[in-house]
Amino acid sequence: MQHVLGLKCTICGKTYGVDEIDYICPEHGDDGIVDVLYDYDAIRANISREDLARNHNRTIWRYKPLMPVAPESAEPPLRVGWTPLYAAPRLAEKLGLRHLWVKDDGVNPTASFKDRASAVAVVKAREAGAEIITTASTGNAAAALAGLSASVGLPAVIFVPKSAPEAKIAQHLIYGARVMLVDGTYDDAFELTLKVAREFGWYNRNTAYNPYMTEGKKTGILEICEQLAWDAPDRVFVPVGDGCIIGSVHKGLKDLMALGWIDHMPKIMGVQAEGSSPLVDAWERGIEGWEMEPVSAISVADSIVAGLPRDRNKALAAVRETDGAYIAVSDQEILDAIPTIARNTGVFSEPAAAASYAGLVKAVDQGLVDPQERVVVMLTGSGLKDIKSAMKTVPEPPIVAPNLDAVKALMGD
Ligand SMILES: *Cc1c(COP(=O)(O)O)cnc(C)c1O
Ligand SMILES: [Zn+2]
Repeated sequence: MQHVLGLKCTICGKTYGVDEIDYICPEHGDDGIVDVLYDYDAIRANISREDLARNHNRTIWRYKPLMPVAPESAEPPLRVGWTPLYAAPRLAEKLGLRHLWVKDDGVNPTASFKDRASAVAVVKAREAGAEIITTASTGNAAAALAGLSASVGLPAVIFVPKSAPEAKIAQHLIYGARVMLVDGTYDDAFELTLKVAREFGWYNRNTAYNPYMTEGKKTGILEICEQLAWDAPDRVFVPVGDGCIIGSVHKGLKDLMALGWIDHMPKIMGVQAEGSSPLVDAWERGIEGWEMEPVSAISVADSIVAGLPRDRNKALAAVRETDGAYIAVSDQEILDAIPTIARNTGVFSEPAAAASYAGLVKAVDQGLVDPQERVVVMLTGSGLKDIKSAMKTVPEPPIVAPNLDAVKALMGD
């Protein structure tokens, strides 16, 4: 991995060689999340925008020279990434905007954005010679890990809160992962996984702990920029729980700026659920990540419920350094967004993903978005993940007798 210079602590700035530490900066314990540093000249020597234009690999691995994996490492076979970026003219018109796109990550193999990180986790676990891989998750990260692990025959053990939506738990079990439903919150599951992985020597995929998850997730924004012919958007809306995705958007954009592949930094907009909005609060109060205290968190958008966002430093930096904003949306606004997005784009989103669009609606309402701006909304997971929430937003369909008259009566004829 000659293109990787090292790992830099996001708290003290100390840098380490990639083999020098396990996951985190030892001086800061589990909060010492590190950033992957690259040699951009070395990367430039291996890949260009023109190379990409000719590359038929339509997966995250088209960006392999920009990822922290050895060139010779085998990629898992599942087709992760290169998800569609759809123009959304009808949504744009509703909001009085000129240019709006939605990025549909629900079409990934396990139906969420998390496949991007889990694909890299599986590669790194195999590079490390691990026999078992583990993660804590609200549901999607574990589903992604279960699926990606199954694709290469690597055993996975996962820890999710017992309240996780049924469809996600079904994914874990069907893919053959060993599932433990934690009698507690996601935050409890996270702490437990740290201990368990250390005790048993398992490879740990935990978000905002394992530094390579950000690097997998940054492929989302790399794709968006490439799909827009390297004319970066002006504003990107991201649903935020732990803050790893929003941090990855920032990281991907910084990589592209360093390579000179895009010429401006988009404003990054973080959207949280009102019942789980510690980053909105920290941003409004102007405090740092290390000053944040855990809050009790609850929302219909289970994938973005996090009482103390693990990647809070990167998540705050993403918004502060790009002149973006944090926005809180209510559970009702999130639920309302599900059918609105679906009916105007054809994309069915789970609540956490729909929160992203609900945040755009609110930002437009508050006059934060210029109508001329080119805006992207990241839709991070499929609506099929949580049917129970989706069904709250639509009426029960009528039951009709199997004859023409009955249909005519229902049609109001
Ligand atoms: C995990 C997840 C998020 C939030 O990502 P964080 O990195 O925790 O901020 C948003 N949407 C979906 C569908 C997710 O699974
Ligand atoms: Zn440190």
